[in-house]
Amino acid sequence: MLELQSDAASEVALDEGDREAIDAGLLRVLLKRQRFSSSTSWLGFGFMAWLMQDAVAVDYLAGWVGCMVLLELLALGLLGLLRRSLGAAVQRRRWLHGLTVLFFVYGAAWGSATALPGLWNDATLLQVILVCVATVALFSIHNLSTYWPMLLAFCVGVATPLWGMGLVAASGAPQVLWALCAVLMVLLIQLYGISSYAVHRHDIEGRVMARKLAQQLKQSNQELTEALQHVQRLATLDPLTHCLNRRALMDALQQEERRRSRCPVALGIVMLDLDHFKSINDTHGHAVGDAVLVAAAARVRARLRETDLLARWGGEEFVCVLMQVHDESLMAKAQDLCSHLAAAPLVLQPRALTVTASWGIALWEAGESIQACIDRADAALYRAKRAGRNQVSR
Ligand code: GH3
Ligand code: MG
Ligand code: MG
Repeated sequence: MLELQSDAASEVALDEGDREAIDAGLLRVLLKRQRFSSSTSWLGFGFMAWLMQDAVAVDYLAGWVGCMVLLELLALGLLGLLRRSLGAAVQRRRWLHGLTVLFFVYGAAWGSATALPGLWNDATLLQVILVCVATVALFSIHNLSTYWPMLLAFCVGVATPLWGMGLVAASGAPQVLWALCAVLMVLLIQLYGISSYAVHRHDIEGRVMARKLAQQLKQSNQELTEALQHVQRLATLDPLTHCLNRRALMDALQQEERRRSRCPVALGIVMLDLDHFKSINDTHGHAVGDAVLVAAAARVRARLRETDLLARWGGEEFVCVLMQVHDESLMAKAQDLCSHLAAAPLVLQPRALTVTASWGIALWEAGESIQACIDRADAALYRAKRAGRNQVSR
């Protein structure tokens, strides 16, 4: 039982291709979220620039906005390249490394808003801008957590100007406090980022596994269907002659019996038994006897119509079911089969062997059961035997 369970688990274990699909899926989420975030970031830094217009000199502000626009456009370009190379692992990795570096610079550009000359003279505005920058950093959990190196690079980038100011400020200065706050913020964002990443990965992993399971189920379903068809073929065919076996013939005849209750069915039974077949076995061996059986079946089958049936009834006895026949055509067909079977040798090795058969026929009469019709054909066959073999009797 335990072995079975571990087998089932290993069948759906992730392989290299699945891990690739999961990574690509995670990046797809990142790209989707970036598309939304880039449209809001224009509003964000535009709003911050508007807030700072009175406190910060216009050339510094213009420089900062210009820098933000440039980086935003660069990020859009690289994200586009990443989107196009999602299926190619090597290229994808290259664009991801490039984007990670770019997002560090981009984060630093956002964070540098807090270091613009003049801002620290207006305590209220400074706090508003710090809150804005912290908000941008917090949003990155949502936007970048499906690729954590980029999230880390962006947050460290946002905090770097604050750390820089904290390092150069005298101890006790507000810059030192904000630098410490930035350390805490980066740690918290990473913590939330990791749990958000785990949720996304779990979700995408589940979808990849479900797809894989569905494929495996589809394939094993197909294999089962093929195996079932094979078993059905084996169950209905005689393994030596590939004619229908006795049970399959009876099934088909019982179906005709049911059909007859709704509409008229005209069919005739032809039963044949190879003459002196035992002596072939005794003289030439069973292998030659088998070859004679196969050849006899093939010769009779070649003379029948598509809709007629041929079955091995047992040993060296066969039954043909001829559809759409009447009394004369049934007799004519049986005589044709009788002379055709005996017309030429059935096997040539170890020597040419011509084999005859005795034939009994019965037309299925109204109100008669199919079994009674078969019994009549059987009785007719033995009359043919008694009358000297190689002939048809009704
Ligand atoms: P008759 O003309 O009266 O029908 O004589 P016969 O020898 O054909 O009939 P009999 O019933 O005496 O012998 C039938 C033989 O068919 C006996 C059996 O060993 C052989 N036989 C049955 N099935 C097979 C088979 O699958 N392969 C081979 N090689 N022989 C088989
Ligand atoms: Mg026989
Ligand atoms: Mg027999």
